[in-house]
Amino acid sequence: MSKDFLKEMLAGFDNFKKENYLLNPDRMKDLIENGQHPDALVIACSDSRSCPEEVFDRKPGEIFVGRHIAALVPPHDPTDEDDTVAASIEYAVEHLKVKHIIVVGHTHCGGIAGLASDVKEGAVGHWIQRACEIIDNVESKFGKDLSDSEKLKAMEQESIVWSLNNLKTYPVVRKAVKEDGLELHAWQFDMGNGKLLAYDEDKGSFKLIAGDVTNATVTNNNKKHSCCCGKKA
Ligand SMILES: [Zn+2]
Repeated sequence: MSKDFLKEMLAGFDNFKKENYLLNPDRMKDLIENGQHPDALVIACSDSRSCPEEVFDRKPGEIFVGRHIAALVPPHDPTDEDDTVAASIEYAVEHLKVKHIIVVGHTHCGGIAGLASDVKEGAVGHWIQRACEIIDNVESKFGKDLSDSEKLKAMEQESIVWSLNNLKTYPVVRKAVKEDGLELHAWQFDMGNGKLLAYDEDKGSFKLIAGDVTNATVTNNNKKHSCCCGKKA
């Protein structure tokens, strides 16, 4: 990590303070005095290209985020010594009373690529191998004749479905879904195309839900009058 990078980090914090903190003093004061009340737990990959706060344009206090490699949610297991994910789920559901849990996987995921390559070594291998049944799930859905790229693409989406199904094994989640209307979602950030997909459980497939914005749309919006009437030029 270069000194220049650290300088950029510090400058970034100053920028955050100027553009968020100082311009909205009441918001941070409220979050401190009254606590956080985020609407959603977002479970996302640690990948530096898929930051939920950036991708979904959220401000401090708006989403509770759990991030780890490949955004995997293992099945509920009270004997599991690695209860990091379970702790995030429990805190978000029982204490923060979130209304949504959103698993956000993404394309070009290194964690899923590692699983496809059968990486088993080290903590990374140990972690991703928890989801090894994804490979069998993909083969049972699509057969064994997929190309490597087709298999990887299928595994990226199957991992999100796997995590969604595993979420339902957590007693706190099941209770909140039944009694409090907690909603579960499985989304995929398509990094290559700048689009957001969601898993439709009824149809068993992913569909586009956001990001259908074209360069033409952006150009037109940029041609609006400088006043606030919103009319196009
Ligand atoms: Zn990833």
